[in-house]
Amino acid sequence: MNATPAEQLLQTVQKMAQAGLNKGTSGNASIRLEDGFLVTPSGVPVEQLNATSMVYMDWEGRPEAGKKPSSEWRFHRDILLARPEMGAVVHTHSMFATTIACMGCNVPPFHYMIATVGGDDIRCAPYALFGTQDLSDSAVDALHDRKACLLAHHGMIAVGKTLPQALAIAVEVENLCEQYWRLLQLGEVKLLTSEQMREVHAQFTGYGQWGKSQL
Ligand code: 13P
Ligand code: ZN
Repeated sequence: MNATPAEQLLQTVQKMAQAGLNKGTSGNASIRLEDGFLVTPSGVPVEQLNATSMVYMDWEGRPEAGKKPSSEWRFHRDILLARPEMGAVVHTHSMFATTIACMGCNVPPFHYMIATVGGDDIRCAPYALFGTQDLSDSAVDALHDRKACLLAHHGMIAVGKTLPQALAIAVEVENLCEQYWRLLQLGEVKLLTSEQMREVHAQFTGYGQWGKSQL
């Protein structure tokens, strides 16, 4: 039997914790439904979650009675509304993405896998207080034409058509940020040119099984 959206959400946050992307009550995730979305509850450690903990919200941001959604429900809603081709959003405070985000800088094309995020860099959204409309607005901007962004002094957001795809992007971004962090220790970071990145984007068109990348 196929997992329900609530079960898929639970599996995703459990995998995020297992992969070390989130600790404690940091991070959250959501999945699109027809008339709204399902989001993780606020401030509940992953080991205390079950499928019935997930909170349904309509597009106006009204949660189902008696449940308190993630404090970041605004950016989950706004990203799903701004990106109709996407079905899922994950947010992490993972070590290396957050470290780079605390420097407030974009991740440049130091490695060809930057292209998997959808452009020639990973943008860092300017700092805004967690749980605010300001944070949501700057996240939506930083995600324009991209599948992930950093949030200054906070963490990262990744999106995908499905929860597994959003999670795969988050894992890739964390990996890239660790590599970038290591390179910054060594001195000047050498970058790919925009012509080389154009070739990478073209090469990805035929990558994977039947030309379909998992990312
Ligand atoms: P929630 O527990 O409310 O989802 O908050 C965690 C978080 O990462 C806030 O940015
Ligand atoms: Zn957060």
